Amino acid sequence: MILEDTSTDHLDMVTIRQQFPILSRTVKGRPLVYLDNAATTQKPQTVIDAISQYYTGYNANIHRGIHTLAEEATAAYEASRTSVQEFIGASSSEEIIFTRGTTEGINLVAYTWGRANIVAGDEIIISEMEHHSNIVPWQILCEERNAVLKVIPVMDNGELSMPAYLDLLTSNTKLVAVTHVSNALGTINPVENIIRAAHQAGALVLIDGAQSAVHLDINVQDMDCDFFAFSGHKLYGPTGIGVLYGKKDILNHMPVFQGGGEMIKEVAFEHTTYNELPYKYEAGTPNIADAIALKAAIDFITIHGRDHIRQHETALLNYATEQLEAVPGLTIIGNAGEKAGVVSFIIKGLHPQDIGILLDNQGIAVRTGHHCTQPLMKRFGIPGTVRASFAVYNTMGEIDVLVAGLHKAIKMLS
Ligand code: PMP
Repeated sequence: MILEDTSTDHLDMVTIRQQFPILSRTVKGRPLVYLDNAATTQKPQTVIDAISQYYTGYNANIHRGIHTLAEEATAAYEASRTSVQEFIGASSSEEIIFTRGTTEGINLVAYTWGRANIVAGDEIIISEMEHHSNIVPWQILCEERNAVLKVIPVMDNGELSMPAYLDLLTSNTKLVAVTHVSNALGTINPVENIIRAAHQAGALVLIDGAQSAVHLDINVQDMDCDFFAFSGHKLYGPTGIGVLYGKKDILNHMPVFQGGGEMIKEVAFEHTTYNELPYKYEAGTPNIADAIALKAAIDFITIHGRDHIRQHETALLNYATEQLEAVPGLTIIGNAGEKAGVVSFIIKGLHPQDIGILLDNQGIAVRTGHHCTQPLMKRFGIPGTVRASFAVYNTMGEIDVLVAGLHKAIKMLS
């Protein structure tokens, strides 16, 4: 059932799914139907192998050693940085800073650029659909500096109101921080227009790419964002590794973040000087294994082709939308013209959590709740949604299983 009508013109689903060992397991006696990809994706064998090959073959600390293992580990770690640079179209690998994930990348900017540049009366613009990770760091900064946090409203269809955004921009706006793709609604925001308008007003722009890096073609130079943050674990890579991209000129002028090894040039009790980019922002021993495995994840995406993956995910999204709309009492939250890989919905009279539990009993993994977007849930007047989110290995057959599972859940809960 799961593998019926699965292959698109370009992707062979049997081959793709075989690369993800976890997909062959069962949950509660049923084949796993994993539709929680916006929270984290599953990992292909190549990513799992890259981690174990590092620990079994060349585990060593990087940059400081002259022995063979240290040289091999350093080469693999830096090759991953170059791979990320190419993946997002950055002009230099010095602009690629390895972090723990999107959250750490955003906090890095808030604590360094933010503390150096934001003063009383300055304004930071975010949006009503932001993940808590792109709200709270700015809220803390604004409270500390007596700055003003402004919020772009979300319209009923789940798109940002662009006229409202343009009205919010003033000569006091110092930063606009918005998500590229909403994790709760799937909305793809018109980031190029947002960035152009912000730059015209003299503000910098941070794009939260946690949900977009896996679904969309990213070119930070074409986009012209000043910062772009994303997480490895949402693009078939490991947890605990992420990337902050920043324009070199801006990063060079920012103060340091954490102090420690690697980020220094020379340390003396009288005065310490700091390392060049990107090491200036990578204090301490980094997450070497997972950084190396991130390259394997990027290779997986590029080998199968971003365009082909996008085409497949769009087909899944369209099919899921059509099938779910036909379920009695079901309302999709977020009907933006441009969406990526996410369908969020509520069912009249039923609590999302109850639906989630009954789906889990049938082997179907979806996310329920507020999706770390409480202000967005408040805006729609709901406690949360059920969210199905797709990845390259999902199939039309799995959407049929979800829809059948929902019918069963509705019957049991009514
Ligand atoms: N922003 C968005 C839009 C997200 O979806 C997420 C993860 N759900 C984050 C930020 C935070 O990512 P992480 O937990 O990997 O730091």
